[in-house]
Amino acid sequence: MSFKLLGLSEPILKAISKKGYNTPSPIQAKAIPPVLDGYDVLASAQTGTGKTAGFTLPMLHILSENPKEKFRPIRALVLTPTRELAAQVYANVKEYSEFLNLRSAVIFGGVNQKPQVATIRKGVDVLVATPGRLIDLNNQGLLSLKRVEIFVLDEADRMLDMGFLRDIERVMKLMPDKRQNLMFSATFSKDIKKLAFNILKNPVQVEA
Ligand code: AMP
Repeated sequence: MSFKLLGLSEPILKAISKKGYNTPSPIQAKAIPPVLDGYDVLASAQTGTGKTAGFTLPMLHILSENPKEKFRPIRALVLTPTRELAAQVYANVKEYSEFLNLRSAVIFGGVNQKPQVATIRKGVDVLVATPGRLIDLNNQGLLSLKRVEIFVLDEADRMLDMGFLRDIERVMKLMPDKRQNLMFSATFSKDIKKLAFNILKNPVQVEA
């Protein structure tokens, strides 16, 4: 199996080879094709399996294939439980989109919101965020999620452990109903299955 055979575009393949990856990891080989085909995906994957590229690569592919507008609305939202993870996912998004005409930003709490707001104002295609700061900025009218096409919930189990269920539900109400949803979790409790049922439509299920 190769990344090329998975159907990813040249600029993305270039970024992958710059990272030194030769072959897709199992979760990447299983998750990337259904995401590219537009399906909602429920993925069971631990950290260290390459799950971040598993959702980031096809997400960037889809965004870069579809026509862009001058005013850049947020078209993809990745929600993570912690700022460390948000920063890590954002670093990946930056690297994988190096050869694409896409902009991205990361927002999380505990730091001054001003630089984050300034970046968003310029227009970003991909936003990586933790729930608290995202809702805060939305409440202040400083960002809109009304044009989100792809929603990724990363480490969903940790999200619930940290008490973010209400926030996730709130964020979902801020996005259009018609969108593609990807949910990643290391474990699958009853609550996670319930959340998946509420977020995903006819999901393809994959396991690392
Ligand atoms: P993750 O599970 O997304 O946190 O990724 C774990 C680590 O694996 C990161 O350091 C990635 O850069 C690396 N990685 C992801 N995909 C591949 C791949 N296909 N080949 C080699 N390393 C990879």
